[in-house]
Order: sequence, then C-alpha cells, then structure tokens
Amino acid sequence: MSEFEGLVAAVTGGASGIGKAVADLLAERGAQVAALDLKPGDDGIRCDVSSDDEVRAAIDAVMERFGRLDILVNNAGIGAQGDVTANDDDEWHRVFDVNVVGMVRLARAALPHLKNSPSAAIVNTCSIAAWAGLPNRALYSASKGAVLSLTLAMATDHLPDRIRVNCVCPGTADTPWVGRLLDAADDPAAERAALAARQPMGRLVTADEVANAVAYLASPLSASTTGTALAVDGGMYGLRPRGP
Ligand code: NAD
Repeated sequence: MSEFEGLVAAVTGGASGIGKAVADLLAERGAQVAALDLKPGDDGIRCDVSSDDEVRAAIDAVMERFGRLDILVNNAGIGAQGDVTANDDDEWHRVFDVNVVGMVRLARAALPHLKNSPSAAIVNTCSIAAWAGLPNRALYSASKGAVLSLTLAMATDHLPDRIRVNCVCPGTADTPWVGRLLDAADDPAAERAALAARQPMGRLVTADEVANAVAYLASPLSASTTGTALAVDGGMYGLRPRGP
C-alpha cells in the first residue's frame, strides 16, 4: 500500500515504541516522515513538546525540510503512578503539560499548514486509561481523559477546515515504556502476566498493531471518520463488564 505517497507526517515521540512504529509504517506506505522527539534518532528533529519555542522551531524545520504538512500524530506522552494522593502539584502540572498541553502546542503550530492540505488528519495517542479506572494511575488517567475530550473538541472546531481529528486508545502495549515498568517490578514476569490477563485476549498489544490503527485514522481510507476513539486493547473496552 502507498496511500501516503506525496504526504508529509510529523510524529511526536517518534523515536521509540508506538511513535517509532507509526513513523516507520507511514514511511513504508509512502509518507515523508519527521520524527519529533526529546531524544531524536539520527534523522529525527529535536522537540520537547513541553516547550512552545521548541515545538514552533520543530514545525518550522518540518516545513523547511518537506514544504508541507498533512498529518500530525500527537503521540509523545509520559506516565505517572499512584492514587490521587501520590503526586504533588508540580507533578500534576508536569504530566498535563506534556500529555495534554503538548498536543495543543503541536496543533497550534501545525494547524496553519494542515489547513492547506487536501487530506489533513490529526491522530492523538490516548489510552484505555481515559475510561478504564485503572488502579494507581490517577494522574495519568486524568491526563488521557483530557486527551479524549480535546480530540472531540478539535474534531468539531476543525470540521470546517476539513481536518479530521481522531485518537487511538491502546491497552497495555509492549514498548520500551512498559519494559521499564516491568524491569522496576519485584517480579517482572508475574507483573507482565498480570498486565496481559487484564486484557481479554490475554496478551499485551504490539506497537505495530497500534501503528496500524493510527495509519488507518491518518489515511484517506478513513475519510468519513472524525471525533472517534479507536481502541487497540485486546478487547478491554468492547468486552468490559457491563452492569445488570
Ligand atoms: P516510549 O517511552 O517507548 O516512547 C515515548 C517517546 O516519547 C520517547 O521516544 C520519548 O523520548 C518521547 N518523549 C517523552 N517526553 C517527550 C517530550 N516532552 N517531548 C517529546 N518527546 C517526548 O512510550 P510508548 O509506550 O511508545 O508510549 C507512546 C504513547 O502511547 C504515550 O502517549 C503513551 O501515553 C501512550 N500509551 C502507551 C501505552 C503502553 O502500554 N505502552 C498504552 C496506552 C497509551
């Protein structure tokens, strides 16, 4: 498939995990891809999404390098653990600053260029944490809930600009992030099994599976879809227990 031929995509957090899988897949399918990251690889562009100056400079660099922008994948994010008492105000501000305001900064810088694209799309990486009430993830879950609401608001506001805005909601995905969490656990194998068991399919999802969902939402194949959250979670959302 080469449905992204002639299109340019910017992917935040594009140097690792889900973002890297997205960048590789879009490139494989014909896009020119700019991977924006705090720790960019060889061809990536340095961009801390918590800095408005860096975000503007990174989008300027994309325009300089490729001359257009059609797809924005807002994927960079950080985690936080614990119940609502576990994190102080500074930590709440820091996680929202990266996970939510980071997406807003990227959108502000990218929208003037996306408006010139005949097939513009924004895909935000949300999480099943937005709705699932996961244990010991109060701050992270709240930030992803905000990403879900932001996605809906942006989809509405930019309908007249013909910019589609959707999000993916991964379940626990096998990425370096989760690898670090497992390494820090007392019993990594037992922790991995517990995370897998939480998902009805009984396994972690792969970064490539999430990337395929992002590619669908970014591509003209989903031309009639906006304001949607696509779960890639081994059935966790669709097969959730329902009340009597
Ligand atoms: P990862 O740690 O493998 O990759 C994250 C990338 O984001 C890294 O390259 C990192 O350098 C970059 N990054 C972090 N802070 C940044 C900043 N301020 N500016 C720019 N780049 C920054 O993580 P991942 O598992 O691939 O997660 C990617 C996204 O997927 C996150 O938004 C995360 O919340 C979401 N997500 C992950 C899972 C999972 O189980 N892995 C589940 C649901 C949602």
